[in-house]
Amino acid sequence: TREPRSPGRHFLQIPGPTPVPERVLAAMSRQMLDHRGLEFQQLGRRVLSGIKSLFKTQSHVIIYPSSGTGAWEAALTNTLSPGDKVLMCETGQFAVLWAAMAARLGLETEVIPTDWRIGADANLIEKALKADKGHKIKAVCVVHNETSTGCLTRVDEVRKALDALQHPALLMTDSISGLVCADLRHDEWGIDVTVSGSQKGMMLPPGLSFTAISAKALEASKKAGLRTSYFSWSDMLANNSNGFFPYTPATGLLYGLAEAIDMIHEEGLENVFVRHERLAEATRRAVAAWGFETQCREAKYYSPAVTTVIMPDGHNADAYRKIVLDNFNMSLGTGLNRLAGKAFRIGHLGDTNELTVLGALTGVEMGFELAGVPYKKGGVQAAMSYIAETAEQAKAVA
Ligand code: PLP
Repeated sequence: TREPRSPGRHFLQIPGPTPVPERVLAAMSRQMLDHRGLEFQQLGRRVLSGIKSLFKTQSHVIIYPSSGTGAWEAALTNTLSPGDKVLMCETGQFAVLWAAMAARLGLETEVIPTDWRIGADANLIEKALKADKGHKIKAVCVVHNETSTGCLTRVDEVRKALDALQHPALLMTDSISGLVCADLRHDEWGIDVTVSGSQKGMMLPPGLSFTAISAKALEASKKAGLRTSYFSWSDMLANNSNGFFPYTPATGLLYGLAEAIDMIHEEGLENVFVRHERLAEATRRAVAAWGFETQCREAKYYSPAVTTVIMPDGHNADAYRKIVLDNFNMSLGTGLNRLAGKAFRIGHLGDTNELTVLGALTGVEMGFELAGVPYKKGGVQAAMSYIAETAEQAKAVA
């Protein structure tokens, strides 16, 4: 049996995967090619050099045919040894999962808790590093954009905390849902490993991960004691130096990647950030006007990619999301872990514009009515007003 047809387009407002632009879909619709041949080599060189600009790095960026989780594993196993200590900050569900992976790989984890309503607190990281007199901590791992909570970590502040103490730990950043949505300066901020994925700000299907590596991380990888094989950086880098890969690359996705990189540069990376900030603020204005709270409780940590909305007590967020899906053909993000049933997420990242967000917010507001969730009218109006007031901002900055 088939589901009844839903006319119009589906509103995929989860924080990734995000809708893939027509141009990218068309670019991927290609016949297979010899991945050891000249035509592929050109593509390989093009994407390996193009992706660097998005991380603001001159260093290497590895592209794995894996989801972001694979790049997490590669980041840890290529640089660390069994029993090494890593400092993590539990900003939400993705930080929880990364820490669990580190423990499984045989690393010792020290986890700084939060109430899941802010990003990683650089002061607390500095305190933990200060207490680490013998430099047992070999890496500090933070999630740039915590997709479960809609909180952003100020990675530059974390860098300053390390610098203030001249602590030699590597700085690792998960920017899986942050890349291209929020500014990220791999080189300037002295990040050693930044990992990201294809299915969020990059506007691609899931299936590729990206790993930017500093010279210091590369040095560490030569002495690391954890085992790697498929995820070995050295095999990748050796092959990448000629535009090739050590095993069969995801050629279709790489064609899409080349196109997505072009699109981001045509718009201008800084303009892409401004667009995300503006649409995120419009969303938060709507949430405030409805009388609800965002999970992120401090403006400093607001995510430009996703807004997590706390449901009023007594109303299940997943029951509400089902009503929105059934009535308006829109998928909102579910609450994860301790937020299950208590919050839902509005993704506003990737190939998104004013009307996409206003359409989504309209569905959210009408959903409250249908679900009998008490709310104040006027959220969509507040978002529209903000968008109208800030029309100037939307104009190209460069
Ligand atoms: N880290 C963050 C911040 C994420 O948002 C996600 C996925 O949503 C992951 C890690 C895991 O990435 P993947 O599902 O691509 O393996």
